[in-house]
Amino acid sequence: MPDQNVKGWNDGGAAQTGGIIIQAMDVVKTYDTGYSKVPALKGVSLSVERGEMVAIMGPSGCGKTTLLNCLSGLDDIDSGQVIVDGTDINRLSDNAKTEYRARNMGFVFQVYDLLPILSAVENVELPMLVSGTAAKATREAAMRALEFVHLANRASHRPAELSGGERQRVAVARSLVNQPAIVWADEPTGALDSTNADDIMNLLRELNESSSQTFVVVTHDSKMAAYAQRIVYMVDGLIVDEKRTAHAKQPSSPTPEQT
Ligand code: ADP
Ligand code: MG
Repeated sequence: MPDQNVKGWNDGGAAQTGGIIIQAMDVVKTYDTGYSKVPALKGVSLSVERGEMVAIMGPSGCGKTTLLNCLSGLDDIDSGQVIVDGTDINRLSDNAKTEYRARNMGFVFQVYDLLPILSAVENVELPMLVSGTAAKATREAAMRALEFVHLANRASHRPAELSGGERQRVAVARSLVNQPAIVWADEPTGALDSTNADDIMNLLRELNESSSQTFVVVTHDSKMAAYAQRIVYMVDGLIVDEKRTAHAKQPSSPTPEQT
C-alpha cells in the first residue's frame, strides 16, 4: 500500500462524496424500567450528509446518547425509521446489525474502553480482527492509525502506561482503523482536561477534513460542539434548533437539473 499521510487517510468506506448518509425520520424511543416509562426520544428527524461533521448538543438527560445509539443501531427504536447509507438498520437481524457496525462504523466513548492487557497497537487492531483482515495488514493499518494520532512511539505501551489524553487518542485510532464510513463519538472529551479535549477535537476535525468520513459527535459542551460544521440542539427528547458553524463547508451550488 502506498504511504499515506493524514491527507487521503481514507475514502470514507466508499469512494462517494455528497448525498445523505444518515437519515432519521420521526424516531421515538421510550425506556420502560418496569415501573415507569421514560420518553427519551419523542420524534426526532435528522439528516446528515456524507463527509459532514455534526455535533449533537444539549443538557444532560436530553437524549443525546439515546439518539446516537438509535442512529448507529446499538439500540432498538419504538417507531420511526433510520436509514444509514441506504440500509434500514432496524430491519437487520441482531447479527447483521453487529456485522454492519463492525464494517461501516467506528465508535469513541467518553471513557476510553481500551482493554488493559493489550498494548496500544493491539487495542487499535481489534476492529480489524472482527473483519478478518490478515495479521500483517492489520498491524500495518493499526500503526498507520497510531501515526495519525501521533502515538506511533507508544504502540507497545499498555493503557495504564498512557495518559488520559493518549488513551483517548488510541480510542480514536481504533475507531478509524477500519476506515469506516461513519465515526460516532459520545462525549469523547468528557473525561479530559481542556488542553487534551481541544487536541482530540482538533484531531477529529482534521481527520474529517482530510477524508470523506462522516463524524457525529455528542457533547454537552458548546466549546467542543463548535469544532463541528453543524450543531444540532436537543432539549427533552427533541431536536429544537440547528446552526452551521464557521467550519461549515460552502454548500455546493445546485446543478441545472436540480433547480
Ligand atoms: P444524554 O446522553 O443526553 O445525557 P440519555 O440519552 O442518556 O441522555 O438519556 C435520555 C433519558 O433517558 C434520560 O431521562 C435518562 O435517564 C433515560 N435513560 C437513558 N438510558 C436509560 C435506560 N437504559 N433505562 C431507563 N432510562 C434511561
Ligand atoms: Mg449521554
